Amino acid sequence: MSDKNYILGIESTAHTFGIGIVHNGKVIANVKDAYTTERGGIIPSDAANHHREVSEVILNKALEVAGIDKKQIKAIAFSQGPGLAPCLLAGIHFAKKLAKELGVPLVPVNHCIAHQEIGSITGASDPVMLYASGANTQIIAYASGKYRVFGETLDIGVGNFIDTFARHAGLGFPGGPKIAKIVEDAKSSGEKLEYIELPYSIKGMDVSFSGMQTKLKQMLDSKKYKLADLSFSLQETVFAMLIEASERALAHTGKKELVLAGGVACNTRLKEMAEIMCRSRNCKMFCPENQFLTDNAAMIAYLGEIEFKSGIKIKPGTKAFEKLDISARQRTDDVEVTWR
Ligand code: AMP
Ligand code: MG
Repeated sequence: MSDKNYILGIESTAHTFGIGIVHNGKVIANVKDAYTTERGGIIPSDAANHHREVSEVILNKALEVAGIDKKQIKAIAFSQGPGLAPCLLAGIHFAKKLAKELGVPLVPVNHCIAHQEIGSITGASDPVMLYASGANTQIIAYASGKYRVFGETLDIGVGNFIDTFARHAGLGFPGGPKIAKIVEDAKSSGEKLEYIELPYSIKGMDVSFSGMQTKLKQMLDSKKYKLADLSFSLQETVFAMLIEASERALAHTGKKELVLAGGVACNTRLKEMAEIMCRSRNCKMFCPENQFLTDNAAMIAYLGEIEFKSGIKIKPGTKAFEKLDISARQRTDDVEVTWR
C-alpha cells in the first residue's frame, strides 16, 4: 500500500485522546487513551498534559493497527470544539505539527456532528440523534441546511449526572456502568426492584437533572432506600425523559430514524427503551458499536474525510492555517454545512 489516501483524525475535546484512520468511509484504526481520576471531576490542565504525553504513542499505535506509514496520510482532521480549551489546544497543536511535518492539510471537525455522522456506518441516512454523553445531552438533527439542536439539557450532562450520584454512593468513576451493573445484577439474581418516583423534568424537548440529583442524594443519605432500587429508578426515570424528548423530535421533524451516540448509549436499558419507542412509531433505531459511542477519533476522521472530499482543506504555509484555532464553545448550529 503506497497510496496517499488515508484521513487521520484527532480527538481531544475532554478526557479522551484518540487517533483514528479512515479510508473511503471505512474505519481502519481507532485507538484511544483516556485520562481518569480517582476522585473528583476532570482537571482540564491535567487532561491536556495527559493528551500531550500520550499523543506520539497513540499515533504510532494507530498507524500500526492500520498497517500504513504516516506518509500515506493525505489530510488530518481534528476536533475543533466544543470542549475544554486546554484539551482542544493540545489536539490542535499536535495536528498542526503533524500537518507541517507531512505537508498535508487540516480539516476542522465539530465533535457533536461527528457523533451524528458516524451513525451512518450503521446504515442511518437522515436520523435524529440522541447524544447522551458525560458532558453533553442533546437531540440533534439536520434540517434546512444545518445541524440543529432540537432539545438539550438545561443543566448538567446526563453522564455527569449519573457519575455524580455514583460517586456520592462511593462507587467510583465512571459511574454509569457501575449503576447499570447494580441494576442488572439485582435483576438476574431475581431480586424484586422497587420503582421510587423521582422528579421527572422535561420541558418541550429540553430536560434537566439537578432536581433529581438533589432528591437522589437526600434519599441515599437518609439510608431508608436500597441502592439497587435508587439505581433502578434513576435509570428508568432518566432514560424515559431522554426517550420522550427524542420521540418529540422525531414527531416534529417527521424523520424516521433515531441514532444513539455518547457513552451513556452503551447502556442496554436505554437501547431497549429506544428500540421500543422506535418500533411503536415505525421508525428505525441505530446504535453504533460502543467504541464509536464514547469519545473517539474514528468519527473525527470519518466526518473529516467527508468534509475533505467536499473541498474543505487548510494547507500549511497559508494565512488560514496560521489563523486556524480551536472553538471551545462551538454550537452545532453555528457550523456552516457545505458538504451535504
Ligand atoms: P463520553 O462522554 O461520551 O465519553 O461517555 C462517558 C459517559 O458515559 C460517562 O458519564 C459514563 O458514566 C457513561 N457511561 C458509560 N457506559 C455506560 C453505561 N453502560 N450506562 C450508563 N452510562 C454509561
Ligand atoms: Mg462526545
